[in-house]
Amino acid sequence: MELELYHFMPDKLNLYGDIGNIIALKKRCEWRGINLKITNITDTSDVKLSNCDIFFIGGGSDREQSIATKEFMKIKNEFKSAIESGVPALTICGGYQFLGEYYKTADGEKLEGLNILDFYTESYNNKERLIGNILVESKKFGSIVGFENHGGRTFHEYETLGKVLVGYGNNDFDKKEGLLYNNLIGTYLHGPILPKNPILADFLIREALNNKYSNFDFLNIDNTEENIANSFMKEKLLKGNKKIYI
Ligand code: GLN
Repeated sequence: MELELYHFMPDKLNLYGDIGNIIALKKRCEWRGINLKITNITDTSDVKLSNCDIFFIGGGSDREQSIATKEFMKIKNEFKSAIESGVPALTICGGYQFLGEYYKTADGEKLEGLNILDFYTESYNNKERLIGNILVESKKFGSIVGFENHGGRTFHEYETLGKVLVGYGNNDFDKKEGLLYNNLIGTYLHGPILPKNPILADFLIREALNNKYSNFDFLNIDNTEENIANSFMKEKLLKGNKKIYI
């Protein structure tokens, strides 16, 4: 079996170990005998998403984000139909923010988003950045651990990835983290997120296989090390952090 992953703007959107997500997906596919072909896209001209089984967009600084947004505008409609048709996707921080209507920077500049989903993000120059390790409890994916560093506060009414137990997530207000829409995950979690949250990685792979193959075996693989990493961070955060929201 083969899957093709489109990695958008790896040269610009690549903060805090985001590339590790690609390595995790590649490895977890390999361990199941699936060839994951990685296509890096730095220029979206003439890009068609018809061969794209999964896509990934990492996070970036405000500057990189504004350059990337212009690039993505060129294929906005393609993107929208891929998301609507259930292509699994992982979008992180800046890559998540620009799927919404706009991102207002701390300097007050309003960067128009792709407006594929109905939400917005705002930074404020009189408010602190939301930085630190984060623990999220998700009904669908269990305990999710990661690291966040963003000025933007995102507000939406979609299904979320889960409830924030330690840290901030979408904003410093509603204790919700991320967004789930069809098979698209938007999240503030860097770190990278997938190696220590293997259920999320497998969700993306399984949904991609589901879209492409009518019949397949999804092999169980040993997650002992991944689970130890996840529990270690979970316990550390529950014990050590004063900001626990249960
Ligand atoms: N520029 C955005 C913010 O600070 C995104 C940062 C990121 O991708 N980590 O909110």
